[in-house]
Amino acid sequence: MIIVMRHGATSRQIANVSAQIEQLGHQVHLSAGEERTIIGVIGNGRPLERGQIELWDGVDKVVPILHPFKLASRDMKPEDTIISLNGIRIGGEHVVVMAGPCAVESREQLLGAAHAVKAAGATILRGGAYKPRSSPYSFQGLGPEGLQILAEAREETGLLVATEVVSPEQVPLVGTYADILQIGARNMQNYALLQTVGRAHKPVLLKRGMMSTIEELLMSAEYILSQGNERVMLCERGIRTFETYTRNTLDINAVPLLKQLTHLPVIVDPSHGTGKWELVAAVSRAAIAAGADGLLVEVHEHPEQALSDGAQSLKPDRFVELMAELRRVAAAVDRTL
Ligand code: PEP
Ligand code: MN
Repeated sequence: MIIVMRHGATSRQIANVSAQIEQLGHQVHLSAGEERTIIGVIGNGRPLERGQIELWDGVDKVVPILHPFKLASRDMKPEDTIISLNGIRIGGEHVVVMAGPCAVESREQLLGAAHAVKAAGATILRGGAYKPRSSPYSFQGLGPEGLQILAEAREETGLLVATEVVSPEQVPLVGTYADILQIGARNMQNYALLQTVGRAHKPVLLKRGMMSTIEELLMSAEYILSQGNERVMLCERGIRTFETYTRNTLDINAVPLLKQLTHLPVIVDPSHGTGKWELVAAVSRAAIAAGADGLLVEVHEHPEQALSDGAQSLKPDRFVELMAELRRVAAAVDRTL
């Protein structure tokens, strides 16, 4: 449930209510909005007497949260979460673009892509050093060497780095190189991994599982939030449907729906969402028009030689064109890019 404090409730009243709730063995999450403070109560299973709490000093009303996710819910925190990262604000007016190859393949390949996406205006470099592939015989990523190369690209270009972490044991290592920890679609319900990144001090980009509902995505976010990491971004990357002409079906509904249900920033991955580079531009434009806070786009200088996801990777010149188009779409929906 949430306890909505009266407009102008004093800090003493807020502290008193929080203390009483904690004394009853429940967890408290404060959300101090511009208008009023909301005290989120994460229950311990023991019921609380709503009518009684409404009599406490400074309390306006007590409202149950009907969703199974609590900390991720808009009821708990009506304002958008803005993740500030080295001067980049994710979730505000600015639309953030994360771009780069699917995987780090070599120093030359990554640095080439990094310079290209930087020149086009991207601010975050993506690239996997650990690749959870559907086949054990496919390229699995360069591992620690890939992380070193990412660090070099970061140093050279000033881009921040988003890279995937695939197991709880790797979180400390990947966390020393990554600015954003990516949880891949295949690991969306790896709860041990979610809890570990929940205790890490890095923002998390949580990708929707290919067969997961929006509610399951939000419950996975809740695993991270409940460990204390409030910097979570959700990523729609397409789901499996009966359609076979595309790799996945990008669920555009997810964007406005997530914006309604949660305060967390919403990122769209048009590359995995389509699987075809020819479709990436149109779907990227649609994502921004629908209200996405950012994009995750695969870019490769030589897609025909890529070790993974070449078919959905844009060449740098097409990415430059795309960025120009996206700036116009962003302006049309009162955003900047
Ligand atoms: C990726 O971003 O390259 C990736 C593996 O994506 P997903 O986890 O969405 O399949
Ligand atoms: Mn990929």
